Amino acid sequence: MSTPSPTTVRTTCPYCAVQCNFDLHLEGGLPVKVTPTKECPVARGTVCKKGLAALSDLRHPDRLSTPLLRKGGELVPVGWAEALAYVREALTPLLERDPGRVGVFGSGSLTNEKTYLLGKFARVALKTGNIDYNGRYCMASASTAMNRTVGYDRGLGFPLEDIGTSDLILLVGANVAETLPPIMQYLKAAKDRGGVIYAIDPRATTTTKVAGRGLNLRPGSDGVLALGLLRQMKLWGKIRPTAPAHGMAEVLAHADAYPPVRVAHECGVAEADFLTLARAYADATKPLILTGRGPEQSAQGTDTVQAFINLAFLTGHFGKPGGGYGTLTGQGNGQGGREHGQKNDQLPGARSLRDPRHRAEMAALWDVAPEELPQPGLSAQELLNACGQPTEQGGIEALIVLGSNPVVSAAGAGQVTERLRALKHLIVIDFLPSETAQLATLVLPGSMWCEEEGTTTNLEGRVQRRRRAMTAPGAAREDWRILCDLAAAVGRAQGFTYGSFRELQDEFFAATRGGKADYSGLSAERLDRASAQWPVRSADGPDTPHAYAPGYPTPGGLATLHVPDVRVHLPAPRALTLITGRLGNQYQSGTQSRRNPALKAEATAQLHPDTAAEYGLKAGDPVRLRTAHGEAVLPVALTPGIRPDTVFLPFHWPETANLLTDPETLDPHSRMPQFKGTALTLHPLGVA
Ligand code: SF4
Repeated sequence: MSTPSPTTVRTTCPYCAVQCNFDLHLEGGLPVKVTPTKECPVARGTVCKKGLAALSDLRHPDRLSTPLLRKGGELVPVGWAEALAYVREALTPLLERDPGRVGVFGSGSLTNEKTYLLGKFARVALKTGNIDYNGRYCMASASTAMNRTVGYDRGLGFPLEDIGTSDLILLVGANVAETLPPIMQYLKAAKDRGGVIYAIDPRATTTTKVAGRGLNLRPGSDGVLALGLLRQMKLWGKIRPTAPAHGMAEVLAHADAYPPVRVAHECGVAEADFLTLARAYADATKPLILTGRGPEQSAQGTDTVQAFINLAFLTGHFGKPGGGYGTLTGQGNGQGGREHGQKNDQLPGARSLRDPRHRAEMAALWDVAPEELPQPGLSAQELLNACGQPTEQGGIEALIVLGSNPVVSAAGAGQVTERLRALKHLIVIDFLPSETAQLATLVLPGSMWCEEEGTTTNLEGRVQRRRRAMTAPGAAREDWRILCDLAAAVGRAQGFTYGSFRELQDEFFAATRGGKADYSGLSAERLDRASAQWPVRSADGPDTPHAYAPGYPTPGGLATLHVPDVRVHLPAPRALTLITGRLGNQYQSGTQSRRNPALKAEATAQLHPDTAAEYGLKAGDPVRLRTAHGEAVLPVALTPGIRPDTVFLPFHWPETANLLTDPETLDPHSRMPQFKGTALTLHPLGVA
């Protein structure tokens, strides 16, 4: 008797780090409908528009289903044999001469297993240290700040339901209602219990309206706000450190320089409003600070986040249920994607490539000598900036991109496009022809989220199963198989001959054993029973809902607080500042969501009505925006809740926001580019 095929498959939404669970209903082997599931431990039966529309682009006419090789300037369909022969001829001489001339660029949307395999592929098959990923553009600042403070980084060190028990929530640059909608239920729960929510943002959003209270502060001044709050807590006798830590005295002394008058001036807010917020924080028993990309996506992002961590730590709330600090990771697998080796300095399980013990552990697993593992290479933006540069200056000659679209998402998109065009070989693995794929010399058709098995880790460190519901179309292949094919094409198949996905997955779980992000107690079967928050150190041991108990994985078990170096650039009167960000209906660089008819949205330049009037602009008028890095033309949208000195651009479209951002100025700690806070001028079209 044959086994009937399933009519529903339970899996996770790929579009953001909440990772809502839903059921895919199948007809004729294809998913035709999404229904949220009440058993979802995260969204509890809710799902947002993106999740509901997730099926619309699965069989989009643009879907890549065969390799494409550039011939005579055009990308033309070829078979896999010809595509892999190109890989062999392009990469083998380079790898023999200098593996570091080959770069690898990954994505925070990859499953954990693909993240792991991509890092192994770069370091073991290609032997290059030049691997990094687009998470460097998302939460890298918060991740770096947490790592240097307590030795590891789980975005939320607590279950989402803890949010509902907080009595004061500071949302700093986090538009939760649009970008992570199911989390609003936890914020509303806190409010229903009498809690207060402050939304700190230069722009009024759906979230700030729900919060009801907030500060409309100057872009780039969040760190000063945190320093001012710490000074007030000291003044009001609220310093009671969470645990002994290095650097406390220096951090507290430094905060003395931030009295309310300075905070109000630099943040561009009323002193009384700042003091009201400070008093609310001082009086709260479980204050919780949640940062988003607002304060993080800047060249001083690490120190800005550090200022908030210091505040939470020194007032005794860090790591306590319902209080403390957390970052709201955004990208589909933004948490797992930053743990398992696609960062330039990282090995699986959030190990360090610089640590001899960690190198030895991974070398033993991968059957190579520790000295064969390359040293850390270039970070994401530096990798892109090096593309096509002279070899003697460390230029990258060939780049392999998996599931990322840096032509839209990287800072200084105009320069990045030029650099990618200058490459000898650009190999892109993707399922839709992204703007980056359109520049490639070879495009390899990969798999979409419901065409592959794997695990992902959500913003609270919860590992969940992603299940396959259908197969990839035509000659498209699962991404993990493509990486193995590439290893074989360059004659380095050893270690990349998995008989099944399960074999790869089991190797991945085992590879994390002993790491900070330890998944070694997990298996597909255990995850079928329930999701689990890492670390999970043994098959029969518990998971870890609350991660940040004192006794941190640092030398001596102590935290280290750092004095934040945050400076506010005070613009000239009437000068404008650019901020960029997300829209609720779109995802990342828009490769999928712009093609999805259910997710309509428009790229506009959001201006305060007074600013528009000053320039003689009305809604819909085209305007040229210029920065030192480029220019873009967009229609105007009037946004009464934005600061009059600020212009907001969404970053989901090519030739918009990131044409204007700076590709060279990077955070010295996290290597995050300066996405926000760029000086900008407006030019109504027709005016020079
Ligand atoms: Fe949930 Fe995020 Fe998907 Fe929306 S986009 S359904 S919030 S995982």
